[in-house]
Amino acid sequence: NNAGAVTIDMLDPLSRKSFPPCMQQLHQSLRQNHHLRYGGRLQYGLFLKGIGLLLEDALRFWGAELSQSVGIDKFQKAYAYNIRYNYGKEGKRANFTPYSCAKIILSNHPANGDYHGCVFRHTDPALLRQKFQGQGMAAENVAKIVNYVTEGHYQLACMKHFEITQGVKECSFGLQHPNQYFEESQKILNG
Ligand code: SF4
Repeated sequence: NNAGAVTIDMLDPLSRKSFPPCMQQLHQSLRQNHHLRYGGRLQYGLFLKGIGLLLEDALRFWGAELSQSVGIDKFQKAYAYNIRYNYGKEGKRANFTPYSCAKIILSNHPANGDYHGCVFRHTDPALLRQKFQGQGMAAENVAKIVNYVTEGHYQLACMKHFEITQGVKECSFGLQHPNQYFEESQKILNG
């Protein structure tokens, strides 16, 4: 049980070092726009729960961001319930688990203005190339990733991204889940 392993002040550095690209994108958008639509709040909120952010911290984190865009009243009335619900504290009190890559890739295709989904499945390959080049990735590595994407191998593209950004020769795992990406990265960083 990793509940409490991650606190709010750890999220910015962790997002840069260990989040998979889908969660990095959600984190950055939330920080920039102080808002995410429902699909993004769900995908990112469950991921954060999975890496060990406690409910109290989740309410503070989302509250601090969303109240800047929708106001604190609306946050309390319309958004806080969903966060408690994700943690099994409302409604049918189910223990919701973070979404797998397959679920993210196959369901709830993002629309304009959405930031959820899989970066490799749901970003135009030309934009993807720009994005990774803009992050300073070597051209040959960008090409390897985009190659997988154009062949429809999104999880392999993400594993290549892991190898490049975490500095490992070959992934020792088959990527099935964003939380797995995070845990494997943390293993490398923390020894
Ligand atoms: Fe996220 Fe999985 Fe897509 Fe990687 S392959 S960006 S972890 S959904």
